[in-house]
Amino acid sequence: MCGKIDCYTEAFKKLRTDRNRTRWISLTTYRAPHKPFLLLSVLDHIDQGLINSNLIAPDYELVETFGRYWSRIMPLGTSGNIAYPFIYMDSEPFWHLSPKPEVKIPTGKTISSVKRIKELFYGARLDDELFPLLLVDHLRERLKETLITTYFAPEAQPIMREQGEINRDAFAYSENLLHTSEAKPESLYADDADEKKEKVRDQGFRRAIVNLYEHRCALCGIRMMTPAGHTVVEAAHIEPWRVKHDDKPTNGMALCRLCHWSFDEGLMTVNNDYEVKVSKTVRQDNNFPGHILTLSDRPIFKPGRAKFWPAQDNLDYHRKMIFIK
Ligand SMILES: [Zn+2]
Repeated sequence: MCGKIDCYTEAFKKLRTDRNRTRWISLTTYRAPHKPFLLLSVLDHIDQGLINSNLIAPDYELVETFGRYWSRIMPLGTSGNIAYPFIYMDSEPFWHLSPKPEVKIPTGKTISSVKRIKELFYGARLDDELFPLLLVDHLRERLKETLITTYFAPEAQPIMREQGEINRDAFAYSENLLHTSEAKPESLYADDADEKKEKVRDQGFRRAIVNLYEHRCALCGIRMMTPAGHTVVEAAHIEPWRVKHDDKPTNGMALCRLCHWSFDEGLMTVNNDYEVKVSKTVRQDNNFPGHILTLSDRPIFKPGRAKFWPAQDNLDYHRKMIFIK
């Protein structure tokens, strides 16, 4: 490639993507959106400093960002697999997979799991001339606009731009939660009905909690990732958001879906010694899954640093107001 921004702008306009009017929707101009979503995610992560050298890893955070773009406009219930564009982007002149020397890359076989990519590759490198250009704000913005205007219909374009802003603000919000343990800025709480602010808070809180618990459910200890890299855990508030607008990590736990539901319904709680307590209701009803009972009196899984452990005053609220004794 020529190494200049104009050449890369052209290359971004000419991505090889599947065109099929029955498979892909009008919002993505009837084309597969995987490569544009991946590149938008990479640009966001360069902006946030999550990618700070010329090696892109298909890590969990990139999977999440890719999924955020996907879920904004793609049909409900569908989810994209970042593994495909990560591999297929190799057909573009600026994207170079970086294989590990000791492994043999299988030929003719589709690599469809993030785990497999990590086994085979260090990640992907961009052209040596392209990466420094992406560190310049206005050039990165220009390429982002190129992607948005080329691969998305006019009605989808503002949604993609908004998601970029949400990603930026949610990242800042979660970094703030992690570094100061305080839930600022206050402006994000001012208007509860503002959907964009709500998305920023949700996304930022989730990022902080999932990272602190390293994708492990605090109550049952499960830690699972799908081949597409999706994590089983959700970020749960101990004292519900509607009761006390408190996004501090100490008012949160990472919980798998079953534990999250059981915790919110009051079937499980956590005692003063950070042990799981199971409601009598579970014992009395055969329909409740027995494995919840096996968690009784077991220590919960907590973040490494004590300052992020669930706060006892938040847990106390849950024990008194939500737990069914
Ligand atoms: Zn669980």
